[in-house]
Amino acid sequence: MFQNPQEFLNYVKEKNIQIIDLKFIDMPGIWQHLSVYQNQIDESSFTEGVPFDGSSIRGWKAINESDMAMVLDPTTAWIDPFMAEPTLSVVCSIVEPRTGEPYSRDPRTIAQKAVDYLISTGIGDTVFIGPEAEFFIFDDVRFDQNQHEGYYHVDSIEGRWNSGKKEEGGNLGYKPRYKEGYFPVAPTDTSQDMRTEMLLTMAKCGVPIEKHHHEVASGGQCELGFRFETLIKAADSLMTYKYVIKNVARKYGKTVTFMPKPVFNDNGSGMHTHQSIWKDGQPLFAGDKYAGLSQMALHYIGGLLKHAPALLALTNPTTNSYKRLVPGFEAPVNLAYSQGNRSASIRIPLSGTNPKAKRLEFRCPDATSNPYLAFAAMLCAGLDGIKNQIDPGPSLDVDIYDLSPEELSKIPSTPGSLDAALEALEHDHAFLTEPGVFTEDFINTWISYKLDNEVNPMRLRPHPYEFALYYDC
Ligand code: GLN
Ligand code: MG
Ligand code: MG
Ligand code: MG
Repeated sequence: MFQNPQEFLNYVKEKNIQIIDLKFIDMPGIWQHLSVYQNQIDESSFTEGVPFDGSSIRGWKAINESDMAMVLDPTTAWIDPFMAEPTLSVVCSIVEPRTGEPYSRDPRTIAQKAVDYLISTGIGDTVFIGPEAEFFIFDDVRFDQNQHEGYYHVDSIEGRWNSGKKEEGGNLGYKPRYKEGYFPVAPTDTSQDMRTEMLLTMAKCGVPIEKHHHEVASGGQCELGFRFETLIKAADSLMTYKYVIKNVARKYGKTVTFMPKPVFNDNGSGMHTHQSIWKDGQPLFAGDKYAGLSQMALHYIGGLLKHAPALLALTNPTTNSYKRLVPGFEAPVNLAYSQGNRSASIRIPLSGTNPKAKRLEFRCPDATSNPYLAFAAMLCAGLDGIKNQIDPGPSLDVDIYDLSPEELSKIPSTPGSLDAALEALEHDHAFLTEPGVFTEDFINTWISYKLDNEVNPMRLRPHPYEFALYYDC
């Protein structure tokens, strides 16, 4: 919204904006915020930052060294559409207040370092990122340990049904048929107005909106689309995307989840990420190799595929992420690339004859990832491929589901669990740390945070389905 601090401060004065809402991203990927009165913001807020206590922020500082500061980025400002009083929202990066150094565990700082690294290699000066985050709209989700086939009830906007059970026989009263949510008109589609409101609200917050639609799963799965942007802008927009979607849904009395696999036996929610590198305004991924790609793009693919098992610890960072990466639901399972094959992890979308549209789509990520970390890590993996000229091997152009088990066993697959991905990250993270983008401290903190707070607590709990399997033993 503003090009510089002065424009920001002038606007606050002219419009008498009393409240400024400072938003920043925590380590797992949730926006946190602190609202301050107008007199708390001046020129220094954009350099030294606004001090706050960082000790209770997940994965950050210990209580004995808790001082931190938020530095406002004036280009990210918008009037928050969900607040009663005119409130100017602004995204911040985190610095150490004593030294003014960018905080090495701040995801937005890590994303900035990834962009700086790209420029320092001389390979390119810009990376464009286009994330497609899918989500479900539900009324309510509750556990019911007595449910045997489904694990829980889901009240979706398309009516109540049990997860894991296909509807059979009779009419469905306009409910989408199993896996046929993509995308009949109303009355089958019941969330049109809500999605339109989400999209138009997003535009008011500076997101370059493009489209919205229902998705494949029958239980209220949707997707909104916005135009690709440079790395940090794309991550900022993704956070705005999630914020607006959840808050508009709440106005309608609904909830939204970006969980990758909320419903057993139906399509999950991904965050396919389109990417391409440019230099001096020229696209570098278009060429005369496979699917109209350049040699550089093929090496980038080589890097993504080589590091995928470790990379997924950042792009698919929840225990639920791995319940999505299974065959049969348009989610990738094979670490391979292809022009059309959607079961491959990397797809080269048809892009016509315009070289500017040439890009690749990494289909593994999901929206439980922290977009700053996920985009930075993908860029590092791709750049490692370019620098070391990693050959991505042959493309995979057959339908993977038609391959014999023998042929299939030759294609590496995505890790089966978060612990497997974290273990891969433990052994393979030089591509993230050597360029100075991620620190060893960050990688270690990430792995132990995920093990202590997610993997192990999940492992310790009896699962509802274990009751179906073992209760009567
Ligand atoms: N939902 C699918 C996934 O999990 C993608 C479906 C699509 O957009 N074609 O990746
Ligand atoms: Mg899409
Ligand atoms: Mg989609
Ligand atoms: Mg896609």
